[in-house]
Amino acid sequence: MSISPSKANTIIIGAGAAGLAIGACLKRRDIPNIILEQSDKVGATWRKQYDRLHLHTDKKNSELPFASFPKEYPRYPSRDQLVTYLENYAAKFDLDVRFNQRVTSAKREQDQWHVQTQDTLHTSPNLVIACGYARQPLMPEWNGMKTFPGKIIHSSEYKNGAEFKGRNVLVVGFGNSGGEIAVDLHEHGAKPSLAVRNAVNVIPRELAGIPILSIGIVQNKMPHWLADAVNAPILRMVVGDITKYGLRKLPYGPATQISKDKRIPLIDVGTMKLIREGHIQVYAGVGEFSGNRIRFEGGKEAEFDAVVLATGYRPRVNEFLTDASSVFDEEGTPNSTGWESGIPGLYFCGYYVSPTGMLREISIEAKKIASIIASQFVPNLPN
Ligand SMILES: Cc1cc2nc3c(=O)[nH]c(=O)nc-3n(C[C@H](O)[C@H](O)[C@H](O)COP(=O)(O)OP(=O)(O)OC[C@H]3O[C@@H](n4cnc5c(N)ncnc54)[C@H](O)[C@@H]3O)c2cc1C
Repeated sequence: MSISPSKANTIIIGAGAAGLAIGACLKRRDIPNIILEQSDKVGATWRKQYDRLHLHTDKKNSELPFASFPKEYPRYPSRDQLVTYLENYAAKFDLDVRFNQRVTSAKREQDQWHVQTQDTLHTSPNLVIACGYARQPLMPEWNGMKTFPGKIIHSSEYKNGAEFKGRNVLVVGFGNSGGEIAVDLHEHGAKPSLAVRNAVNVIPRELAGIPILSIGIVQNKMPHWLADAVNAPILRMVVGDITKYGLRKLPYGPATQISKDKRIPLIDVGTMKLIREGHIQVYAGVGEFSGNRIRFEGGKEAEFDAVVLATGYRPRVNEFLTDASSVFDEEGTPNSTGWESGIPGLYFCGYYVSPTGMLREISIEAKKIASIIASQFVPNLPN
């Protein structure tokens, strides 16, 4: 094991959007920082996502501090365009990213953070955790699951529907990944179904040509119940009655859902049209597996060739942040994001599930964290 001789004032964990944004904001303030990244490239989480993925939020409201998306990019950039944007961002600010550095533990001792990777100990007075909300795939288990003869993958492993052509594929989960993967499967000639356990809300990506996010930003100043009351008749008109297709509508609207349940409603990129046309079947939540037969809550059964678990993620910062249980919940989700946590010199960035888009929030949080760190920064003067 080696000890890093770095004189970083701040160690950042993660070279995704959040880590790079913090790095850039600190760099602009001449505050020495390093970014520890477990993979060998920036934007690792986005690189792994499925081919069809585009931002659901518009580019104007998704940019990181001090760098717009290129003019030639569409309003909703693709996965690959976002990755290129992140690569250019790291290069533009000449960020000091240390690749292949997987953080295994982080502890505060004598006013310093001791951040251990598989081979190196890094130390600094400040630590920003920017490892992403989507750090660990959530993989539920059901009775009989091991008897299923086909492929079962998490949405984070799904690339495209080519290998599922002509197959009956069950997508479990009605979040934005599940909704879009079902569309992708249909476009590749597969026969997709969705297992939807909970009651849901559905919103369009745009209303009258205005990105839904821009509307969310304006309405974020209102109480959530009021925003939902204003939107309800418009959503009823645009989205229609989703209960006709086997879905259950949440008793409250999208704004309340995001703040109360910390879950983003389905931003519809074509899923509802395919459901209405009968190309995507809707089932209730999964009950149990028996060979290739799956029984759903309520008793319906059907046979499938493959299953995609679009069942979400957990941040699980508790895996490496030891001795700090006061700043996250029992699942390792931070209690705060965007300012100094309850432990001195410890910050989280990118953990706010927001009606105004997570990338937009990351940008706001990164600037705020950098300004707090700058206000406490004492440069190392030469002797
Ligand atoms: C499928 C999907 C679609 C999304 N679409 C949108 C959208 O349209 N608009 C929007 O605003 N938001 C969206 N989000 C949410 C969020 O904005 C993005 O996930 C964004 O990439 C989050 O950036 P991040 O830097 O916080 O996390 P990540 O991009 O996940 O980056 C975290 C980095 O930390 C690294 N890391 C993790 N653990 C360690 C460790 N122990 N040691 C070292 N490095 C580590 C990872 O390798 C990764 O590079 C989406 C999320 C997903 C999953």
